[in-house]
Amino acid sequence: KRRIGVMTSGGDAPGMNGAVRAVVRMSIARGCESYAICEGYEGLVKGGDLIKQMFWEDVRGWISEGGTLIGTARCAEFRERPGRLKGAKNLILKGIDALIICGGDGSLTGADIFRTEWPGLLKELVDTGELTAEQIESHKHLNIVGLVGSIDNDMSMTDATIGAYSSLTRICQAVDFIDSTAFSHSRAFVIEVMGRHCGWLALMASISTGADFVFIPEKPPSEGWHDEMCEIVAEHRRLGKRKTIVIVAEGAIDRELNKITPGMVKDLLANRLGLDTRITTLGHVQRGGSACAYDRMLSTLQGVKAVEAVLAATPETPSYVISIIENKITKKPLMEAVKLTQAVATAIAAKDFDKAISLRDAE
Ligand code: ADP
Repeated sequence: KRRIGVMTSGGDAPGMNGAVRAVVRMSIARGCESYAICEGYEGLVKGGDLIKQMFWEDVRGWISEGGTLIGTARCAEFRERPGRLKGAKNLILKGIDALIICGGDGSLTGADIFRTEWPGLLKELVDTGELTAEQIESHKHLNIVGLVGSIDNDMSMTDATIGAYSSLTRICQAVDFIDSTAFSHSRAFVIEVMGRHCGWLALMASISTGADFVFIPEKPPSEGWHDEMCEIVAEHRRLGKRKTIVIVAEGAIDRELNKITPGMVKDLLANRLGLDTRITTLGHVQRGGSACAYDRMLSTLQGVKAVEAVLAATPETPSYVISIIENKITKKPLMEAVKLTQAVATAIAAKDFDKAISLRDAE
């Protein structure tokens, strides 16, 4: 029986459990055995009890659960070849030669490197006597399929990452709560949201809550943004608005790549406009709680597609990432998606914001 490993890695995101559930059950339904690699790459490197067989009932109820129940970690050892050598040995000892990984672009890059090195790693393990030629005989190639689990929605070549809509939902709920109190006291609130170098959460939250102003990394404000923001907020107040909401992405920058902080925005609103202004950093609330309906659907459909991709893979096919594009679940070459994702960060670092925006639009 073919043995398929499933793992969650990098930052946790609601929907990861739904993905694991779908992979486990689809693997079993297709006549394979399913193994969970717990604690991300840490479990791969350490092996033993951290790699455990999963059965149908083990993932019962997981579709709605937030976070990741098989654990995740950041693992420095896997970044180096000796760590990956240990990982290869542990997989072979369990008879696993296919891995479905739900994580961000870092985790998926690591997986592709692992796959590329696989034949060399096995040779070394046999040469040094750690494994026998018989043990590696039927596992000459490693199949890798990625699922993008990230609240940031920061991956190219997919419209949505698993977790992004749950996080957006949570942010909207939180801003709704803040709205009530802001309205009562006629206050201004500066709200910092997550997203790392991606402005999707901030932008979509600002649209969904009718915010007055938003700062995102891909499209820094013009040089005169201090005046512009104050004029817009003052105009809204003149028109009778009793509350002000400004959303700041955690990666927000100006055109010179200086960080724009909630504190800077607060000082402007308070000092120039005389508004009673508070800062709310939503923090890890944005990652927690149950997966929204969209993420339950996305993680399930993508988990199914990932198992199909593993079973259809040949040594010649590249590592795939499972995407959703215009509402269709599809597979894309993993490293092309990673390269396009990294091109956005490179464009921002080079202050080429038009390119950064067009790369995001091209997704
Ligand atoms: P994310 O997957 O959310 O982008 P990280 O970038 O922190 O998160 O990656 C998670 C883990 O994946 C790292 O701790 C490391 O073990 C592994 N990893 C990331 N990048 C690489 C790489 N270039 N080579 C090998 N392993 C990597």
